[in-house]
Amino acid sequence: MTQPDGQNTTLDNLLSENRTFAPSSEFAAQANATAELYQQAEQDREGFWATQAARLHWDTEWNQVLDWSDAPFAKWFVGGKLNVAYNCVDRHVEAGNGDRVAIYWEGEPGDSRAITYNELQREVCKAANALSELGVGTGDRVAIYLPMLPEAVFSMLACARLGALHSVVFGGFSAEALRSRINDAEAKVVITCDGQYRRGKPMALKANVDEAVTATPSVEHVLVVQRTEQEVGWNSGHDKWWHDVVDRQSDQHTPEAFDSEHPLYILYTSGTTGKPKGILHTSGGYLTQAAYTHQAVFDLKPDSDVYWCTADIGWVTGHTYIVYGPLANGASQVIYEGTPNTPDEGRHWAIVQKYGVSLYYTAPTTIRTFMKWGSDIPAQYDLSSLRLLGTVGEPINPEAWMWYREHIGNGTAPIVDTWWQTETGAIMISPLPGVTAAKPGSAQQPLPGISAKVVDEEGNQVGNGQGGLLVLDKPWPAMLRGIWGDDQRFKETYWSKFAEQGFYFAGDGAKYDESGDIWLLGRVDDVMNVSGHRISTTEVESALVAHSTVAEAAVVGASDATTGQGIVAFVILRGGTGSEDSGDSATNALRDHVAHEIGPIAKPRQIMVVSELPKTRSGKIMRRLLRDVAENREVGDVSTLADSSVMDQISAGMKSGS
Ligand code: ATP
Ligand code: MG
Repeated sequence: MTQPDGQNTTLDNLLSENRTFAPSSEFAAQANATAELYQQAEQDREGFWATQAARLHWDTEWNQVLDWSDAPFAKWFVGGKLNVAYNCVDRHVEAGNGDRVAIYWEGEPGDSRAITYNELQREVCKAANALSELGVGTGDRVAIYLPMLPEAVFSMLACARLGALHSVVFGGFSAEALRSRINDAEAKVVITCDGQYRRGKPMALKANVDEAVTATPSVEHVLVVQRTEQEVGWNSGHDKWWHDVVDRQSDQHTPEAFDSEHPLYILYTSGTTGKPKGILHTSGGYLTQAAYTHQAVFDLKPDSDVYWCTADIGWVTGHTYIVYGPLANGASQVIYEGTPNTPDEGRHWAIVQKYGVSLYYTAPTTIRTFMKWGSDIPAQYDLSSLRLLGTVGEPINPEAWMWYREHIGNGTAPIVDTWWQTETGAIMISPLPGVTAAKPGSAQQPLPGISAKVVDEEGNQVGNGQGGLLVLDKPWPAMLRGIWGDDQRFKETYWSKFAEQGFYFAGDGAKYDESGDIWLLGRVDDVMNVSGHRISTTEVESALVAHSTVAEAAVVGASDATTGQGIVAFVILRGGTGSEDSGDSATNALRDHVAHEIGPIAKPRQIMVVSELPKTRSGKIMRRLLRDVAENREVGDVSTLADSSVMDQISAGMKSGS
């Protein structure tokens, strides 16, 4: 991380935001969450979590809420036993809700399938029986390399049912990325499909698996779902069609109860800041926090809401807020296979209209893309069913928040800006809908039961109006239990910086505003140091995005002989690269705009107009690569970049001096 060279270890507080949006009295009156939750959790944290754990069916009751004696290795709900898949599926069938639709699946070409909880139970049982036939048992690892198909959900729950760990690898990753994840987890089975629909065309997927498994000694079987019916290579030694093996299985399967701390899955982080880490999650605490947060933060009413989280199942958001949280709560949800601009830029809104989606959860990058496409597109659809909106993945710029509220949320839907990480397993900091008066751009307060603080380098909490480092100072149920196979890296990465205090170091910068609300300010590694001022990338980016010509912005600090670092901004213009806004006088006007909005110290040294920004496959901007360009270095590891040619274009533009 960037070491502060001056005495000033806190972050400068540049941006101020005074708009607040109190919940309507109608929303508040029906909200799942209440202000009392904060008090209850404050008075008795463990008692609060014990109450939340009662949302689940436990075959054996636990006898201790938390065992932190071997910190940082936590045990939650000690002695308890449960089956996670039973909790997500069978329980709802037994309660008489088997006819409720669990999944409205929408294929990119327009095919669709509604899967009830009854059917989900049969599919998960068959998949579990198939995996056992293939030799998968408790504790084994299964790699799932699938796009957004119902079989991805069946496979994850089948693993959970058997006590096997899944390791879902995003379907956009290369053979090499897949291979390294298979080998790290030593997966016995890989589940994949022939191909996937992307932007209206079938694209091969199995070919990547064929290439990956040439050097994966642990893999015994490859189970292949048929989706596009395209030609595939076939290795009769280990390849099997899903429909040959799964379809003939019994749809009955008796779930076994596993220990609350039984491992549930491994998931690799996005790799925004470096080499991905294999994050390990376990069962009882994880499912408790997934169910609680999904119900409280999204205000879920399982018998009337239609929920849609647009994340890919290959990211933690897909794990906790497509599979485990919603299904534990018996929700009806949309799962969409494809891209937001197929067949046209209104696809998401057509889906909202078709299914009457009421709760919609997406990422700031998607919202900024919708803004760039224009508000006339959502205006063509009936979005009146939407009653709550969420965002996750990056700080949301206040202007993007306002656009989201106005053009998607009809000016009334509460927005929940949810901060969390693969490591935290579930939402940690977020407004509570119906309780919190929302502020555009701020995640505001830790949820009831969660404790987070903004501290300086010494671990002392900073005051209101000041910035520093975000830490989680108390263990939480869904916390990671380690990095797969690497306890040392686990301790070093998260627990060594504030070892004395026992804080979890999140790696993100944050600040308190004057009323004590938390604002996330981007990665600590990205903080800039300009003439002794520590400036967050997020605040400068938000100032740029607030300008009417700018659609997206990424800001980095590049070494500078006089100021230590100088601010270099990369912007995507609403009008595109060739537009009249891209000339020198226009970029100078943008530099002045930043100086005017947040202060002269934040005035960018240079602004480059680009057509794309380097993003991870989960849509986060990779500033470390832009810093390489700004400092004329060779560009670093691009293996988790969505489109690696973006960096070539940007480097070329930089050299030609634009
Ligand atoms: P890696 O750890 O490998 O670099 P990553 O941190 O991008 O990858 P994730 O776990 O997917 O992997 O992302 C978590 C990070 O996303 C957080 O640490 C934070 O920087 C950012 N983030 C998520 N939600 C929010 C939010 N609501 N506001 C601000 N930042 C957010
Ligand atoms: Mg991270």
